[in-house]
Amino acid sequence: MKVIEHLEKANDTIISFEIIPPKRGGDLNQLLSVLDVLAKYNPPFIDITSHAAEVIYEETNSGDFRVKVKRKRPGTLGICALIQHKYNIDAVPHVICNGFTKEETEDFLIELHYLGISNLLAIKGDNSAFQKPVSFGRSINRYAVDLVQQIDNMNKGIYLEEELLDASPTRFSVGIAGYPEKHFEAPNLLTDLKYTKQKIDAGADYIVTQMFYDNQKYFEYVKTAREIGIDAPIIPGIKILTSKKQLTSVPRNFYIDLPEDLIEEVMAADDKHTVDIGVEWAYKQVTELLDNGVPALHFYVMQRSAPIKKLMKKLGY
Ligand code: FAD
Repeated sequence: MKVIEHLEKANDTIISFEIIPPKRGGDLNQLLSVLDVLAKYNPPFIDITSHAAEVIYEETNSGDFRVKVKRKRPGTLGICALIQHKYNIDAVPHVICNGFTKEETEDFLIELHYLGISNLLAIKGDNSAFQKPVSFGRSINRYAVDLVQQIDNMNKGIYLEEELLDASPTRFSVGIAGYPEKHFEAPNLLTDLKYTKQKIDAGADYIVTQMFYDNQKYFEYVKTAREIGIDAPIIPGIKILTSKKQLTSVPRNFYIDLPEDLIEEVMAADDKHTVDIGVEWAYKQVTELLDNGVPALHFYVMQRSAPIKKLMKKLGY
């Protein structure tokens, strides 16, 4: 079923999760044990992130620079197939622009379509991705809106090859990313939201937000989005803080602020208690979001199930 259909049919707030594939050469069993835990909460859908190869540039003896692939996380497609066909949960693969040509993306979308996957989150992807040189008429999706347009075309049976006149249409429901504290490259929130509206107008069905730790930022974001004509559901993204290190790594990686009260609590405690502080903070956030009738709650679980188990228990699941 499509995510947008789950949202439309739900009588209550939906719970969904997001996981990340293991690093290249990593152990899938660990991720499967996380999925075993998540499946017990009957989420209608689970997101799986996608990652282009990350690169560093090495200086050669001759003073030139060569690209060296630093990190890869393959496996999104296989994990999607497992989620959908082993756990009977709708899989939402993330599809990214950076690091892929439009032609490669089209092939990936065809694979997903054959697997019976009808949901996607269409995003630009992290900036560290290795961008292949584009040649021989090949092209790239520069912004997520270009990718949404490509998917919308395929949903209408329009593929990249012009001679494919009788191509069968795909039937993807498309989610996109939103940023209550604005995307780090955007000059301001309103400009960022105007680009977000372009993605909705191009065929996206719903928005999942970047994590935030201050609900007011989400409420204000939704209000401004509605004011500029974005009617699509806006699903709040929640991540439980689990270590002191994240006081710096979360703002650095996700360009968000942490509230003073949360910082003070974590700083004053032994690091082994951070996860309990994080769970308590997330519990308060979630309770308020539920009271405000959010359409769904999207938990960034990544690869650890213990913190989400604690939170779900507190929430009565
Ligand atoms: P875009 O919508 O393309 O926007 C990027 C920037 O360009 C913004 O500042 C926007 O305001 C601006 N912009 C947009 N359109 C235009 C335009 N037409 N002209 C000029 N400026 C424009 N990264 C991964 O690598 N893999 C993942 O699986 C992944 N999952 C994510 C899931 C969620 C829910 C979120 C919130 C983020 C995720 N990311 C992931 C991170 C994401 O790829 C980055 O935040 C990326 O920098 C922006 O992605 P976007 O789709 O929002 O980009």
